[in-house]
Amino acid sequence: MDFALSDEETQVRDWVRTFVRKEIAPLEPEVLRRERAHLPGLAADELRELQLKARESGFWGVQTPEEYGGMGLGAVLTALIEAELGRSFVPFRFGGHADNILYYANDEQRERYLLPTIAGERRSCFAISEPGAGSDARAIRATARRDGDDWVINGEKTFITGGNEADFAMVFARTDEGVTCFLADRADGWRSEPIDTMGEWGPAALVFEDVRVPGANVLGEVGKGFDLAMKWIGRGRYLLPARALGACERLVEMAMEHARTRVTFGAPIADRQAIQWMIADSAVEIEALRWLVLHAAWLVDRGADSRHAQSMAKLYGGVKANEIVDRVLQIHGGMGYTRELPVERWYRELRLLRIYEGTDEIQRRTIARNLLKGHARVSGTLG
Ligand SMILES: Cc1cc2nc3c(=O)[nH]c(=O)nc-3n(C[C@H](O)[C@H](O)[C@H](O)COP(=O)(O)OP(=O)(O)OC[C@H]3O[C@@H](n4cnc5c(N)ncnc54)[C@H](O)[C@@H]3O)c2cc1C
Repeated sequence: MDFALSDEETQVRDWVRTFVRKEIAPLEPEVLRRERAHLPGLAADELRELQLKARESGFWGVQTPEEYGGMGLGAVLTALIEAELGRSFVPFRFGGHADNILYYANDEQRERYLLPTIAGERRSCFAISEPGAGSDARAIRATARRDGDDWVINGEKTFITGGNEADFAMVFARTDEGVTCFLADRADGWRSEPIDTMGEWGPAALVFEDVRVPGANVLGEVGKGFDLAMKWIGRGRYLLPARALGACERLVEMAMEHARTRVTFGAPIADRQAIQWMIADSAVEIEALRWLVLHAAWLVDRGADSRHAQSMAKLYGGVKANEIVDRVLQIHGGMGYTRELPVERWYRELRLLRIYEGTDEIQRRTIARNLLKGHARVSGTLG
């Protein structure tokens, strides 16, 4: 068993670490200042500029196949990258990315949707959730009916990430044949309403009222949309906890720094067992999370069934990241509660991890079902 990183993994990790230190971390005070002024952390052109700077060193389209100009990196490398990016709260992501299900595009859709999305010229959103259908995605009620060569879509979507900015939606609706996925341009007539949330990533409600899309805009096959939706959701449940892993590392480092320097009753609080135990528990949980994430990613790279491992990493990451950020806030005392420090921002952001892309309860349901039906063993993949 080899727990060491390969030379390539070390090089990629180190490059991203340096990029975060030199290009991303210096923006943090400004991102906090903007948050206090209710402004987005990065403007679209600032994000683009950073992405183009990373591209000069080849960091573009981390998981985008090489034939599309990307790096085509595997899951372990991507998890290592996400963990490094997670060490900063600046809302940065590398450019050159398109949703995995857009690769099911036919030739014409490829030119109109996939390639411009990879190039950063168009923005997509993934729209399945509805006011009456979140965890139970099969309960969606949006409909699409045929009218000549077109489809006419009606319904409401909610909590759609990027829905305010997207110029096309991958929207899921009921058809006679089952659920179908459509590529619906904003110009086709759907509209979006921002939803105010605890975090910076404000999603949108999308309204479809007799939105007419051409028959050529079915993504994949009519009636096979639910399979696509599951592929989108399952594309990498290890990615969200990987980012949280980086955040937790940074948070605990901040807590230790504060504990060493904050003196109460004549001694640094780091000398108190109450504080030490919080640091120790957090470090153990971070270590456990690291291996859950990397193990799930390793299974993905081997082409093995990784769903159980990914659910475990997602569940543990969500629960533990929230416990850790709470301890770190506690160690910072009143300062932790202020917007002078990023702790409270992370406290709000990490809360989302327990909800989207499968809540804690849905992950537990999956894990328990796998075990009880014999698809997975408590003894893990080593048997
Ligand atoms: C910021 C944000 C961004 C999002 N982005 C997107 C997006 O881009 N696209 C998209 O389509 N959706 C998106 N979502 C929606 C997200 O996927 C859903 O919110 C999530 O799946 C939970 O669904 P729900 O909110 O309807 O909660 P519900 O499904 O109503 O669940 C409510 C509670 O009941 C629990 N519960 C539900 N069923 C069971 C069960 N069988 N057993 C035990 N407990 C259960 C849940 O775990 C939860 O605690 C986003 C949500 C948020 C908050």
